[in-house]
Amino acid sequence: MGEFIYTNFFIKKVDLSNYLKIKNKIPSNVNILAVSKGFKSQEIKIIQNIGQNDFGESKFQEAFEKQLILKDLKNIKWHFIGRIQSNKVRKIVQNFKFIHSVDSFEKLQKISNISYEENKNPLIMLQVKFSNDPTKGGFDPNLLKLKWGEIQELKNITITGLMTINPKGLSSKENTELFKQCRSLADSLQLPDCSMGMSGDWEEAIDAGSTWLRLGSLIFGDRS
Ligand SMILES: *Cc1c(COP(=O)(O)O)cnc(C)c1O
Repeated sequence: MGEFIYTNFFIKKVDLSNYLKIKNKIPSNVNILAVSKGFKSQEIKIIQNIGQNDFGESKFQEAFEKQLILKDLKNIKWHFIGRIQSNKVRKIVQNFKFIHSVDSFEKLQKISNISYEENKNPLIMLQVKFSNDPTKGGFDPNLLKLKWGEIQELKNITITGLMTINPKGLSSKENTELFKQCRSLADSLQLPDCSMGMSGDWEEAIDAGSTWLRLGSLIFGDRS
């Protein structure tokens, strides 16, 4: 049975049992990114209170409101994991230490230019697409290799790894195969991180060499 923590007088509860189970099971080089999109600052606080400091958000405005409320929790590191609109790049650079979802060279260039102006140096994982999923963005792996020289010249960004999102409905074996392609490309570019694995496929992602699991519903419960 889970451990329940009740927040003040609201009936809202967060079941921490899945979080603790996963935390105890994963290898020490694998990090959990708690994906808090669709959940409230109060829920973030409960999980932060037991030592989780990395939180992922996919919509700038929603994230910014929570960042304001939680600004006194200095240990929180915010990760942007959503689609990046050009007109939001400056705000993302100002307010997020990590960006997982850079899916084109043009966006990366823009982030680099703005980071320079803002005197920032975000940690970046480039989103790569290993399957033909029309609903997802991402670098084509071959294009990324071709551009790699140019990418490394860009200032004020630190690329630590690759990120990928698998299409829905794959078998466990298919998920593992795609994740392995991501790991192998990251290795060939000498990048330590792979941001891969969500609530439904995190175990396959660990087997394939993930270093960042992006977990939302599995730790916070269903989004209402
Ligand atoms: C929402 C989201 C997640 C988390 O999804 P869950 O299935 O709730 O774990 C992970 N990565 C990205 C990019 C997301 O948008």
